[in-house]
Amino acid sequence: MSNRPIICSICLKALDSKLDEDGVTYIHGEQHGDLGHEPDPIEAPADWRGACDFCSTDQAVWELPAKTFTAINNHISAENWAACNTCAALIEKNQWNALVRRVKAQYIEKHPGLFPTDIAALETQLKTLYRDLRKNITGGMTPL
Ligand SMILES: [Zn+2]
Ligand SMILES: [Zn+2]
Repeated sequence: MSNRPIICSICLKALDSKLDEDGVTYIHGEQHGDLGHEPDPIEAPADWRGACDFCSTDQAVWELPAKTFTAINNHISAENWAACNTCAALIEKNQWNALVRRVKAQYIEKHPGLFPTDIAALETQLKTLYRDLRKNITGGMTPL
C-alpha cells in the first residue's frame, strides 16, 4: 500500500475516500464547496503540499503536532494538522476565536446560501473541534 495522499489532478486538493458497494470512491471534501468538476484521483507527487487543515483555502506550510483524537460526529482527527501562514500565526498567538472567525468566513464564501442556523451550527462545531484539538497538541508549529 502506498501512503501517498490521493489528490485531484485538476484542483490539486486532497480527496476524501468513501467506501461503498463499488469499492473506494474519491470525492472532493465538502469543505471546498462546489468546485465545478468531477474529481480526477491521482497519487500526490512527492513535493505536493495540501491545503491548510483549518481554513482549507491557503496552502499549508506549517504542521501542528497533535495526538489522534475522536472529534465531534465521531470524526477521527488523525495526528498532525497542517496550517497555512495565516492560521499558524493565529494559533501561535493563541487567537482561537479569530481562527474560528476566519475559518467560518472561508466556509461561508465557498457555500453560498447557508442558513443562519447552519452558520451558527458551524461556529459551535468549530469551537468544539478546536477546544478538543488544543487538549491534544503535543508541541509547537514546525515548518512542513
Ligand atoms: Zn478537483
Ligand atoms: Zn489556513
